Order: sequence, then C-alpha cells, then structure tokens
Amino acid sequence: MTETPGRVRAEIDLAALRANVRALRARAPRAAYMAVMKADAYGHGMLPCAKAALQAGATWLGTATPQEALALRAAGIGVDDARVMCWLWTPGGPWRAAIEADIDLGVSGMWALRELTAAARAAGRTARVQLKIDTGLGRNGCMPADWPELVEACLKAQAEGTVKVTGIWSHYACADEPGHPSIALQSAEFADALRHAEEAGLTPEVRHIANSPAILTLPETHYDLVRGGIATYGISPSPDLGVPADFGLRPVMSLKASLALVKHVPAGLGVSYGHHYVTAEPTTLGLVPVGYGDGLPRQASGSGPVLVAGKVRTVAGRLAMDQFVVDLHGDEPAVGDEAVLFGPGDRGEPTAEDWARAAGTIGYEIVTRIGTRVPRVYVNE
Ligand SMILES: *Cc1c(COP(=O)(O)O)cnc(C)c1O
Repeated sequence: MTETPGRVRAEIDLAALRANVRALRARAPRAAYMAVMKADAYGHGMLPCAKAALQAGATWLGTATPQEALALRAAGIGVDDARVMCWLWTPGGPWRAAIEADIDLGVSGMWALRELTAAARAAGRTARVQLKIDTGLGRNGCMPADWPELVEACLKAQAEGTVKVTGIWSHYACADEPGHPSIALQSAEFADALRHAEEAGLTPEVRHIANSPAILTLPETHYDLVRGGIATYGISPSPDLGVPADFGLRPVMSLKASLALVKHVPAGLGVSYGHHYVTAEPTTLGLVPVGYGDGLPRQASGSGPVLVAGKVRTVAGRLAMDQFVVDLHGDEPAVGDEAVLFGPGDRGEPTAEDWARAAGTIGYEIVTRIGTRVPRVYVNE
C-alpha cells in the first residue's frame, strides 16, 4: 500500500495513543497497564499500536485469540518487552505454541485446563494460567458454583509443575453505566472468588477486572492490573460517561478520503440506489469514495457526517459498497480535496462517536470495522 493521499486512509496518531496510555496509567497509578490489542488493535493496526503502548509504559498486551497473541510474539514482542495474555480459546488451542511463546492463558473451565496441562507436559514447560471467574457478565468465565473444582484442579497441576496460576480475573457487564446495581454485585463476587482461591493456596501475581469504563470511573476496581481497550484508542466507552476530552483522551484514528468527483446537477435528481435522496434545487454533489466495503455502516445512509470544504455534510441517500454522495449545496471543492469522515473533532470534523450515533451503534464498532482495503498511515511514530 502506498502512503500517497489516495482514495482513503486511516491516519493513526501514535502520539495520541501514547498520551492516552499515560493518562490512563495516571488514573490507575498502583496498577500495571494492559493495552488491549484484539481485533487488530480495534482496527488501528496491532504492531505499531503495541509498540507505542509499551513506549508509554504499558507492560501487558491483551488479545482475544491465541493467534493474535502469537502474532505479537512472532513480530518481535519478546518476553522482556511485555507480558502477553489471551482469553478466547476453543478446543485444540493452539496451547503448546502459546505456552512456548510465554503467553498467559486465560482459562474459564475444566476442559481448557485439561487440554493445556497435557500440552504443558508434552512441551516440558510450565503454563502460565489466568483463571477467569464469571462474576455476572454471563459470558465467558467459570461460574461461582464450579470455581472450587477449577481452583482445586489448578492447585494439583501447580504441585506437579505443569501450571502456575499467575492471575485471577473477571469482566464487568455494565461498567459503562455508573451506579448500575450489577457493578457492586460483580465486585463482591470477585472479592469472594479471590478469597476462596487465596485461602485454598493460590497466590496470583495479578488480580484484574477493570476495563476502560472501570478505569475511568471505578478506582476501587483497579487491583493490580487494568485492561484498557477503547480508551487506549481515545474513544469514550459510552457517550453517557463523557467525551474523550473529559478524561484527557484523544481519538487516535482519523478516516480521510479524497473527493472522486464534484459535479453540477439539476433539481429533482435522484441520488444513489433507491433514490432516497432527491435534490431540492440545482446544486453540486461530491462523491466520497468510501463505503461499507471499507467498513462504514450502511445504516448511516442518510445520516453519516463528513467534513468537506469546511462544512459538515451528510450522506445523501444510500451509502453503497464503495462510495457515497454528499450534497455540497453549491460549494465547489476540487476533485481530490480532502473529505474527513472522522477524527479527533477539534478541527470541525465529525468523530467516530458521531458515526456511531448516526448508525445506531457504538464507537468501538466504527473503528474496529474499518477494513483491510483502507491503508493505515502512522503519524507521530
Ligand atoms: C475487550 C476486552 C477488554 C477491553 O474493553 P474496553 O471496554 O475496550 O476497555 C477488557 N477485557 C476483556 C476480557 C475484553 O474482552
């Protein structure tokens, strides 16, 4: 991929990412910082973002899948550079490769412990295991009723040297809704699970439950390690909590395109598939060459915002696979002029959160879905 302006590009501001990590670490001063890198760093590009996060003081990198964790190691993130943890396993692993790459393995059930102890024995290595308790998210994690069995089995595996329990952890369901009653219930359940495990004889190096909203609003949940995902990328976990600037955060990704066409059209012209937009008067139209094939939500048809020639315009009619149209109401920018779909927002451009609102989704989904057809251009490395 070239780095000329081109059709479309996602500019990734690594100085903003580093500043975000520092701001988040300052909010959790006694905890280590895990920068969550899953889904290609929420669409920002895993390796450059991982390196920037480590430069800013993160000491852990988190991924969902083992493939993502192994990719970090394969790209040169060594054991002295960062602890790497992943938590979304399915039968077959790859357990042995992860153990040999010194990855911390999130474990939610007996099936996983059985598979990984067999792999550790075969490798002649000790697997680092992080036990996950389901404190009330109702997703992955060991149910409290099954916790004693999992803890017992870990103690046994630890005694034979196949396993070392390095962490105990959980995940909130509603940390982005301050005061939600589930938060206190999950916190209490987590404390119970920790007490049980420690009384049984486990000595986890890190206990962790805080995601981005908990880092920002629930200091009592920080424990030894916090897992910062969306906030690392400068996006607020929820508009109800505030905008990024309220937390000293700055959006890392800007999505920019070059106008592919500007033309004069008469009144009454149907625009794009289905003719859901019809020009009210003679006007100018601009063609923005980005579409749902690049990860934009088609639900933003008729509502997605874009800054063109100093004004925020709205997607006119349907957003298509590769392109959409804006009514420029007589403005005549040049073909090739910049159209900013989203960015930090301080130069008049919309934000990813604005696209989320336009499409009825969350900022997480807007940045994460930006596709492989969009080159990432790293600035402020
Ligand atoms: C994605 C994820 C996170 C990060 O969540 P954010 O809300 O983006 O901070 C933390 N922990 C787990 C287990 C996750 O899956």
